[in-house]
Amino acid sequence: METIRYNCKVVVVGTGAGGAVAGHSFASAGVDTILVEEGRHFKPADYPRVFDGFVNMYLGSGSTIAFGRPPISITLGRAVGGTTIINSSTCFRPPREKVESWGGPGWDEMLPFFEEVEQRINAKPADIELLGGNWRILKRGCDARGIELKPLVHNIRDCAKRGRCAFGCPEGAKQSTDVSFIPGAVESGARLLTSHYVDGVIIENGRAAGVVGKHGDNRFEIRADSVVLSMGALRTPTFLMKHKLATSSRRVGRGLQIHPAGRVVAEMDEIVDGHIGISQGAYIDHWADRGVMLEGIFLNPGIMMTSLPGVGAELKNLAAAYRRLSAFGSMVSDTSSGRMLPSHFGDPFTALYQINRKDTGNLIFGIARIAEIYLAAGAKRIFTGFHPVPVVDDEKSLKKLEQARFSPRDLEIMAFHPLGTCRMGADARASVVNFDLETHDIPRLFIMDASVIPSSLGVNPQITIMSLAMRAARRLAAKLKS
Ligand SMILES: Cc1cc2nc3c(=O)[nH]c(=O)nc-3n(C[C@H](O)[C@H](O)[C@H](O)COP(=O)(O)OP(=O)(O)OC[C@H]3O[C@@H](n4cnc5c(N)ncnc54)[C@H](O)[C@@H]3O)c2cc1C
Repeated sequence: METIRYNCKVVVVGTGAGGAVAGHSFASAGVDTILVEEGRHFKPADYPRVFDGFVNMYLGSGSTIAFGRPPISITLGRAVGGTTIINSSTCFRPPREKVESWGGPGWDEMLPFFEEVEQRINAKPADIELLGGNWRILKRGCDARGIELKPLVHNIRDCAKRGRCAFGCPEGAKQSTDVSFIPGAVESGARLLTSHYVDGVIIENGRAAGVVGKHGDNRFEIRADSVVLSMGALRTPTFLMKHKLATSSRRVGRGLQIHPAGRVVAEMDEIVDGHIGISQGAYIDHWADRGVMLEGIFLNPGIMMTSLPGVGAELKNLAAAYRRLSAFGSMVSDTSSGRMLPSHFGDPFTALYQINRKDTGNLIFGIARIAEIYLAAGAKRIFTGFHPVPVVDDEKSLKKLEQARFSPRDLEIMAFHPLGTCRMGADARASVVNFDLETHDIPRLFIMDASVIPSSLGVNPQITIMSLAMRAARRLAAKLKS
């Protein structure tokens, strides 16, 4: 075994929403940067099939969960581009009142970063013609109920309606960070090391001085003035706990929030062809004030069918009706919070998350609102993912759904937005990093990823993560240059 050695000014671990933007910001400011990524560098032209996407681009082949009742599927990307390579390309700025409540950079300071990120990733409301049949069905139901359905803002260019955003866009249309930030970082001189797994931080004289890890059969060591961890909200705290780094506040790994979500599928009489177009096209923020956001989602047949009830001929008939299915999701701004535990047996992380009654109630409320809209749109059957009332097909069964006694275990819950496990704050006893995203405990050790966000956002987080990383990286670059 050989140890390969590198030197640079800043080493960034992870190339997702936080890491790629940080790396780009450093490199374009002329700072000698190395980006280290555990996953492979897929190119749009060689994106694998959907099933291969699970195996290759998803951490643990998409099998990662948070433990609780029920266990919650919580998936992450593992590739250059991180989770942005498998995300649904939906873009939201964080709600203004959330940003103001953090006590750090306020809305006016963050606004130019939101704008710059949005411009670079081409975040714009999607054309209605890209939203496919799902939009048509939901629009009819929303119009009948007097509720506004809006097209989501997406970071795409020249979308070819392939409908498989969550498995890597084969057209390179999605402006995930492997497309939007990494090439510019490399052009500006950053070095990108792929299939490199970081397993330690070098600490010298009490400050971060580099990272070590493995690449194939070899070890590597990267010496740097500053170390930026951007491994995501589940893996950064796991890493810190394992290596007993920056843990003095006892807040590392605490405060996990995930935006628990449920999916509703409706069987229509007409052809919907929801798989043609952007997978997550539209949203309804009518109930956002109570913490419920409804967003479209459509999946390919193999994955969609596993979430539907029935076996044998019944499931086969439903599969045959795939072109007549429409789907939408409900997402909750959580008041529940979970925590990370030290990981064992080589697991990439161990997360505990128990959804509380308030959030469960909100999730069911959202599912009921979608069912109501689908009924108004003329759906024959609506599959709720809620075990006591798995199917809604009329007002009576909808009422039954709303009035059912529920336990969280009765729900199929999934989550896509882990946040808040190494929160930023001014108080070193109550947070892990300061507002420059430097750990309170270890000088020159930074965290620039979803971990630092101090509260559930209620909206998809990539713009928030990218903008906070851009601000912190620019500030560090200015310090390093001077
Ligand atoms: C299916 C899905 C759909 C989503 N849709 C949306 C959406 O439409 N809009 C939105 O805003 N958000 C969406 N999200 C969430 C969003 O993509 C994430 O919140 C965001 O990418 C998180 O950024 P991050 O930098 O914290 O981590 P990540 O993007 O997860 O990046 C972390 C990177 O670090 C690497 N890494 C970890 N450990 C190591 C190590 N030890 N050594 C080297 N590398 C390491 C990982 O391989 C990974 O590439 C979605 C998520 C999922 C799963």
